Amino acid sequence: MRRAKIVATLGPASNTIEKISALIKAGMNVARVNMSHGTHESHTQLIKNIRQASLNVKQEVAVLIDLQGPKIRVDKVDKPLELKDGSSWVIGESKNIEKYPEYKDCYIPTIYDKLVDDCHDGARILFDDGLISAEAVERDRDVYKIKINVGGFLKSNKGINLPDCDVSAPAFTAKDKEDLLFGLENGADYLALSFVRRKEDVEEVKFLLHKLKKNIPIISKIEKPQAIDHLDEIMEVTDVIMVARGDMGVEVGNHLVPSVQKKIIKKCNERGIPVITATQMLESMTENPTPTRAEASDVANAIWDGTDAVMLSGESASGKYPVETVSMMSKIIEVAELDPKERPLLRNMDLSNVNASVMVAASMIAEKVDAKRILSVTESGHSCLKISFFRPKTEVLGITNHLETVRRLCLYWGVTPYRLFDYNEDDFNFQKDVINKVKEDVGLVNGDKLVITRGDGRFFSRGSSNSVKVEIIKDAPKVPGGQDSLSEASDDKKKILLDNSICASCQNCVHICPHDIWKVSDNDRRTTYINEAKISECTMDYECIRVCPTGAIEIIPMNN
Ligand code: PGA
Ligand code: MN
Repeated sequence: MRRAKIVATLGPASNTIEKISALIKAGMNVARVNMSHGTHESHTQLIKNIRQASLNVKQEVAVLIDLQGPKIRVDKVDKPLELKDGSSWVIGESKNIEKYPEYKDCYIPTIYDKLVDDCHDGARILFDDGLISAEAVERDRDVYKIKINVGGFLKSNKGINLPDCDVSAPAFTAKDKEDLLFGLENGADYLALSFVRRKEDVEEVKFLLHKLKKNIPIISKIEKPQAIDHLDEIMEVTDVIMVARGDMGVEVGNHLVPSVQKKIIKKCNERGIPVITATQMLESMTENPTPTRAEASDVANAIWDGTDAVMLSGESASGKYPVETVSMMSKIIEVAELDPKERPLLRNMDLSNVNASVMVAASMIAEKVDAKRILSVTESGHSCLKISFFRPKTEVLGITNHLETVRRLCLYWGVTPYRLFDYNEDDFNFQKDVINKVKEDVGLVNGDKLVITRGDGRFFSRGSSNSVKVEIIKDAPKVPGGQDSLSEASDDKKKILLDNSICASCQNCVHICPHDIWKVSDNDRRTTYINEAKISECTMDYECIRVCPTGAIEIIPMNN
């Protein structure tokens, strides 16, 4: 099972039900809808297709609506502008171009109305993901004179970055608000905010969601130098962090991206905030069926840094090999996870919260008793978030009957959402409605163990998990290896039988028998066996049978 999750951006190369179904099968857990492109009409269709594909392949994914934020762009130009090294240009709002006929042949129009006010002499102005760079020279009325340092052809709608300027545009623009309302109406599971700079940018959206009575997790995209400076305060108010390496690379320089990535992931891991690493992870697969070695290493290293999820952008939205890219990413992660990162130290975790301590205990118990799954019964997904934080080695099934929770869990590290349909609230029977279903779905056999965490009260009522239980499967239809799990030893007075498939490894028999008939294997300290050399000393008082909680022991007297 893969623990880290895959976020894939959908676009023209991947917007049909067929393609999306293939992406889900290949391993996409979260589908990202990028509001920087397309129309509400095309997005409505896309989201419908995502939900239909999920139904077809019987697997839910989360829909992440990514708001554009104050992205500054070049406006429409008739033909690409040839910006030569060292040449002089002016930049200004599109509508002012007519006002300055003297600049008509060297005018770069922008859609952003505050660019000239926000700019200052000497500030860097970067175009097209930083491929073209210029420097602000001096202001002239409503335009800024600039000098091109590294030239190139500049096309319509290319992005502009102003890393040295305190951009005054609000982080949450009028378009973002429309897109957010669109997302809420169309069942968004996560909302991402672009170009966040400080915690107030996130709070503004949180307050709005609260007013609208919507509780949707917010992802803060860290891509501005100011956001890196204010990371701690942003983390206080955000649900998920994204290391948005695209704009970050342009703004701070690519050479700083790896260390910023490591620092952000470390902080998120320490606080239990899920973190997504994004942009150009398998970039060359936009054109090619296989990635470069450097890209494969990049994905693996993000996993070893401790990221909860990795993201694809152009590779899956408009590349030639979207499905192959997702499978490749999944394979790289699976191999990287064979070499897991150290989990957080207990002494560094805040376990004063009941839910958190119960969930951490559950993952330790599951590991020690070698449980096949942890079943976390959850309403909001909160318990699963807590257990994910501790990086459990056992696969967690997040059991819920809320579809929104199922979808939210898709992003959580190590958690597989498990929706429980068709159960009767009044006559709910955990064994019948949950354990038997899991037993069948997972293919459990006698002797397998499950660790179950639940809260009090009605089954799915809100409230935090406060109990941990270990369930030993006893009545599964078959035992693999059949007779092998059954061992026996006899002498002329009795036959002693032990069924290891249902032994709970409690060692009650070992402790109660003074004759050393029951032993525990030195290898795993778990497997109990019959010490054949001693069975003649058995007094047949049946004390071991009495203390065995699972009925794994039988002693049959022989009458001869
Ligand atoms: P974007 O965000 O693709 O919306 O620009 C990701 C990034 O900048 O890395
Ligand atoms: Mn970005």
